Amino acid sequence: TALEYIEVNERNLNALITPLYEEARSRSWMLDAALARGEELGSLFGVPVVVKDNITVDGVRTTCGSRMLENWISPYSAHVVECLERAGAVIIGKANMDEFAMGSSTEFSAFGPALNPWDLSRVPGGSSGGSAASVAAGYAPIALGSDTGGSIRQPAAFCGVYGLKPTYGLVSRFGLIAFASSLDQIGPFARSLKDVAAILQVISEPDARDATCARKERPNYAEFLNVTSLEGFKVGYLAGYESLEIDDEIKRAISQTIEICQESGAEIVEVDLPISTRYGLPCYYTIAPAEASSNLARFDGVQYGFSVAADDLKELYLKSRGSGFGPEVKRRILIGTFVLGSSRYDAYYLQAQKVRQLIIREFNAAFSKADVLITPATPTLPFKRGEKLTDPVKAYMADLFTIPVNLAGLPALSMRASMSQSGLPVGVQLIGKKFGEGDILKAASVIE
Ligand code: GLN
Repeated sequence: TALEYIEVNERNLNALITPLYEEARSRSWMLDAALARGEELGSLFGVPVVVKDNITVDGVRTTCGSRMLENWISPYSAHVVECLERAGAVIIGKANMDEFAMGSSTEFSAFGPALNPWDLSRVPGGSSGGSAASVAAGYAPIALGSDTGGSIRQPAAFCGVYGLKPTYGLVSRFGLIAFASSLDQIGPFARSLKDVAAILQVISEPDARDATCARKERPNYAEFLNVTSLEGFKVGYLAGYESLEIDDEIKRAISQTIEICQESGAEIVEVDLPISTRYGLPCYYTIAPAEASSNLARFDGVQYGFSVAADDLKELYLKSRGSGFGPEVKRRILIGTFVLGSSRYDAYYLQAQKVRQLIIREFNAAFSKADVLITPATPTLPFKRGEKLTDPVKAYMADLFTIPVNLAGLPALSMRASMSQSGLPVGVQLIGKKFGEGDILKAASVIE
């Protein structure tokens, strides 16, 4: 059966932290019974879905890839999980991830690394590496991940599947354990654009429990897929991408993608994003850790999860946080606390907020010329395990092209454009205007 297939493959891939085989079986029986009773069927009736382990499911443990929450059972489901279940989906497992979604390789999981199904000596990307690997390996046609600085799009590119980060505010964050609240968004992985559209429709239902979740009506996303021509549509590409320090096969994929758009009738324009490419990373690595240091303060050994016995409160905090968090999470908390310190706030945090505004303006200018932008998803093809483990800055570079999109709150999709000589997927990224998911789907369906 499908669940046995997963069980066998998990010995290698380690894409799941918590498989939910029993739960999935009993849920399928329940759905069968509903079917027999002639109940109305949802749009995802019986579809298996994998959910990243920082998204809560009622009664199931939600570890965030951390020792800190190893035994924490969530007493409630995330909004997106409620939506999936209403639509008839069957959640078959909680996906492996970098601890608290910090990382680009899933090697920072406290439950061991997940591997890339295309080549087991390589990483699947991160932090949603388990979700991407699950879809690439055929555990489920769709999975959910979260993207704060590229964590859906970078692993999607590394695993050769579709990965969409929606506009900030399109999908409710209720039940997503926060990393950096002004950047976090939940989004889907899938092997077809039709599935991307179908799951986006389901999870983007408005939700009053997340104050940043937009109330406006969502379009019918499937409608954007019925196009054959890009006549009257403007596609922008990054000026000078040929001379960027990125893999040659990625450059080639970009120029092929531009060509396809042109042949389909799109007008091709050049755009400049110098601030985003140059200052996006330092801006993100100031703002995201600042927000994380505050969000992660709740894991103190008292309220949630892991706790180490101690003689007094301070020692309890120190010991619990000292042994509950892994190295990357500690690094982020230290950076965040540093940039928020009263004597450094103006020079770092405030400055980064100003740069963020400039990045937003730069994208606005680009989108006055184009409907969709084509950029690399990542600077390199999937890298080897261990390759960037000891050099954090090298690892941070993996999100050079994805991070500015989060800072500007825009939607973006990464998709496979070709295969490399060595048999690895080569991805590209399509960026849209705010709430321009439809435009992205339209362009992608022509490129596909
Ligand atoms: N790799 C980036 C980081 O480590 C992005 C993570 C994410 O999007 N959750 O912060």
